[in-house]
Amino acid sequence: MSDSGATETLDTDVLILGAGGAGLFAALHAHAAAPALSITVAVKGLLGKCGCTRMVQGGYNVALAEGDSVERHFMDTVEGGKWLNDQDLAWTLVTVAQERIRELENELGCFFDRNKDGTVHQKAFAGQTFDRTVHKGDLTGIEIMNRLAEQVWARGLNRLEDHRAVELIPAADGSGISGVLMVDMRTGGFVFVAAKAVLLATGGGPTMYRYHTPSGEKTTDGMAMALRAGLPLRDMEMVQFHPTGLLAGEETRMTGTVLEEGLRGYGAYLLNGGGERFMDKYDNRGERATRDIVSRAMFEEIRAGRVGPLGGLYLSMAHLDEAEVRRLFKGMVRRCADCGFDLAGDKVEVVPTAHYMMGGVEFAADCKTEWGGLFAAGEDTGGVHGANRLGGNGVANSTVYGGIAGDTIGEWVPRQGVFSDPDAASIEAAIGLCRMSLSKPPGDLGVIRTRLADIMWDDVGIIRDAASLERATGDLATLETDLDGIGVDGSNLAFNLTWHDWMNLKNLILVSRAIAAAACARDDSRGAHFRADYSETGNLETSAFTRVRLKNGEIETTTEPVNFTRVKPGETLLEE
Ligand SMILES: Cc1cc2nc3c(=O)[nH]c(=O)nc-3n(C[C@H](O)[C@H](O)[C@H](O)COP(=O)(O)OP(=O)(O)OC[C@H]3O[C@@H](n4cnc5c(N)ncnc54)[C@H](O)[C@@H]3O)c2cc1C
Repeated sequence: MSDSGATETLDTDVLILGAGGAGLFAALHAHAAAPALSITVAVKGLLGKCGCTRMVQGGYNVALAEGDSVERHFMDTVEGGKWLNDQDLAWTLVTVAQERIRELENELGCFFDRNKDGTVHQKAFAGQTFDRTVHKGDLTGIEIMNRLAEQVWARGLNRLEDHRAVELIPAADGSGISGVLMVDMRTGGFVFVAAKAVLLATGGGPTMYRYHTPSGEKTTDGMAMALRAGLPLRDMEMVQFHPTGLLAGEETRMTGTVLEEGLRGYGAYLLNGGGERFMDKYDNRGERATRDIVSRAMFEEIRAGRVGPLGGLYLSMAHLDEAEVRRLFKGMVRRCADCGFDLAGDKVEVVPTAHYMMGGVEFAADCKTEWGGLFAAGEDTGGVHGANRLGGNGVANSTVYGGIAGDTIGEWVPRQGVFSDPDAASIEAAIGLCRMSLSKPPGDLGVIRTRLADIMWDDVGIIRDAASLERATGDLATLETDLDGIGVDGSNLAFNLTWHDWMNLKNLILVSRAIAAAACARDDSRGAHFRADYSETGNLETSAFTRVRLKNGEIETTTEPVNFTRVKPGETLLEE
């Protein structure tokens, strides 16, 4: 192999970026399919301890109970996605979820809550016509991640913890991917990891918004790397806001963290600052309407000034059986108590909070992407959920597609995988971009972060229009220039979190530009995307999805027709 230019070079047959549900399932499946392969999981934090799969509260959607079916789950997913979903991806989700949940229980050893008759308990989640959300109390993700991590450790797969992926490096001959440039966060040194196959599973994460739920290390790195690599991303305007983010003041990072949807499923009320229950004014399903509708209604109430002392609204369970609420929602009750609120007996101030990105890298049902040797799975990808993700379909997505990616990689690498010489210029450019801030006088990144949060919340948030999006496009360009002018003290790069924050912001601004561009291109309102100047949903039969690519530094946007491969708008797969 030619000299990569990086400080250190490693090689592995398979490199998995990210250690959430998608990354760890991929590692286990690739190992099962091809045990002789060397598999390395690289993660920005510690394996098993970071990412959003661990934070999953409510649970996992899968059609298991009598009366439910994959067709019903599929129809809920496509109706919820406002017909923008790639239907083959959605179908794979609902069908393979049935295998995956059994694997989680019977092979990995997850304990999910059960009914008295021994069947798996499934609870109500908004936007679904059947109670199909499997769960472990209200902290389901910890159960899933602990069992997954144990299995990965038990197999002795390679780990690169505290390693941040910074760029996908193409092969010098243009044949696909050659590996990934990483920063070892413990030393600050660059590492080029050469691989025959790479899985992108860094989990998206809309942390560019003022209020957000995802884990702090998630800064849309995978999407930004894919954009810089010239790959297409779809549905980027579709950012889901969860209606009930905890509002506990500016000084705590608990602000923005989510109070799960099962609370509203169980009967919690939303009240405005005047103590009035308002959801019935907006939707006849009241608090059980889908996330987009509830978030928008809340945003309207907030804009009208009917707010609590911190500027939010209230979630109230005081009318329900207090002991039952404490028993069923132990984790949520404790989370609120940690911030001085009594969820079971009183009301808690909440605000819509950026939660999930439906958009992401275009990929096929076997997890292949446009680049040979590059695969993608989980929240980094787009197409499964269309315009809106149902609660409970997120962790199903990451585990279903993580497993499929592992199967595909395990089959593909022995037959087609080769180490390719890396494109040296790409490594050099990537190192140059990362080091750009180290040669300039240090400045205040906090100001940049606040400006980014304000732009995205005010102008590319729950309600947008042409004027706000145009303003945001200009402001994001200025912000990027300002960030480029800010330096970071590079005298010690070991665990230099300011340097990482600079790189985080660089990625977040790029992906924010992609969100704003896609939002400009969609001139109707659907699911999570609401345009005040185009408030109607367009003709479903001619639905098109947005595609963005980065070309010569500019975000290019096109729209592509949705191919209704299984069912057309107005039709159903359910028997009458
Ligand atoms: C609070 C909360 C509650 C949720 N509750 C539910 C729920 O009840 N049901 C549901 O279906 N979904 C829920 N979700 C959504 C769900 O968590 C995600 O859809 C899913 O877990 C994403 O899995 P993933 O593997 O794609 O990403 P993640 O699990 O987030 O994993 C991403 C991994 O990539 C790593 N990473 C990031 N950047 C880099 C980089 N540059 N280099 C290397 N590694 C990197 C991260 O450290 C992490 O290990 C919830 C999300 C949150 C935030």
